[in-house]
Amino acid sequence: MKIAIAGAGVAGSYLGCLLSGIGHDVTIFEASKKENHWPVCAWGASYHMLSRFSSKAGLNFDNYVLHIGKVLKMDLPNNLTEYLDLRGLVTYDKRRWEQDMLAGAKIEYGTQCLRSTFPSFKYDVVIDCTGFHRTLLPKSHEDFVIPAYEYLVENIEAPEEFYVIGYKGARGYFWYFPLDKEKAYIGAGDIDRKYLGIQDFFQNNPKSKIVKKIGRPIRLAPPKRMEPFSSRNIVGVGESIGCVFPMLGEGIIPSLLCCDLFLETLEDKSVPSFDEYRKKVLRKFSYYDDVYRIVRLKMENKLNMVRHLNLIMSMYINMKMEEKRFGFEINFSKMKRLVNAL
Ligand SMILES: Cc1cc2nc3c(=O)[nH]c(=O)nc-3n(C[C@H](O)[C@H](O)[C@H](O)COP(=O)(O)OP(=O)(O)OC[C@H]3O[C@@H](n4cnc5c(N)ncnc54)[C@H](O)[C@@H]3O)c2cc1C
Repeated sequence: MKIAIAGAGVAGSYLGCLLSGIGHDVTIFEASKKENHWPVCAWGASYHMLSRFSSKAGLNFDNYVLHIGKVLKMDLPNNLTEYLDLRGLVTYDKRRWEQDMLAGAKIEYGTQCLRSTFPSFKYDVVIDCTGFHRTLLPKSHEDFVIPAYEYLVENIEAPEEFYVIGYKGARGYFWYFPLDKEKAYIGAGDIDRKYLGIQDFFQNNPKSKIVKKIGRPIRLAPPKRMEPFSSRNIVGVGESIGCVFPMLGEGIIPSLLCCDLFLETLEDKSVPSFDEYRKKVLRKFSYYDDVYRIVRLKMENKLNMVRHLNLIMSMYINMKMEEKRFGFEINFSKMKRLVNAL
């Protein structure tokens, strides 16, 4: 098939690599110029899952790992602190990983695709991997995004481990994700745009040097609320259709899982069935809607631990079943304490 992919982020680069690998004629269009292309992300995800996705694409994930986490410290409202054992959460060189995925692919950098002008008629299938932008698809029924930005900093004296500050009412959180060589990402997503924690970080680390400031909103609305997934011969994959875990704004693994669902739908078929793909995505990410409801209820101060126990149980059971995919321990008592504290 002749395939166009808009966006060379995590989903676009992975799909570009795998679809070209099975003989499709793929062209990728990326809005940024090659020299400026930088994944806006804190580069944290599960080692187990990324090893699996990497080896499917012929890459050895060990070559990209920057920091292997042992423990995550979480400061919560009312002076509570919680620690989570990490079981595979790492930071990795996402930029090089995406570049290596694209080695050998046909890619046009500096090309911003627009819905009004993109020549989709020239392709059998056009895949919208533009993430938050969702450029080629119609607007969804019920989008919800949270503003976020971060700094890449170096020369830091802060502790070597993952650290977050959860904001009251689950309205966002501050993160400190260690990379290698005294570098880290520090940033925050915050519906109220106060970004608590960032200023303190710089006060406590006066010698730290800002290498980069980047940002964009993160989509929290899950797939159930991000329909339609397709329009004519255009189909969305990744964050463009809400594949982000709403409690954490974590989208690398969900986007890659979504890519695999798309690839499965293509297997043994000359023309992909968008309807079959839609059903697979809705099934796979159905519990994300429960998690999203918890987040929204918390934000509106309406979450009741008894009345909404079904949602909390759904989040716990589903996360527990996929513990390796998250890269940290999933513990019911800690989860309850955490949801309660926020
Ligand atoms: C500040 C921040 C920190 C984050 N940290 C983490 C984290 O640590 N771990 C995690 O799992 N998730 C994190 N996320 C979320 C995660 O980065 C995304 O959910 C994930 O990258 C989505 O993958 P994607 O391929 O769908 O889209 P993206 O990776 O966003 O890629 C979209 C690509 O499309 C390009 N593009 C956009 N518009 C156009 C257009 N019109 N034409 C052509 N190209 C276009 C963009 O330049 C980009 O290259 C973070 C997000 C943010 C904003």
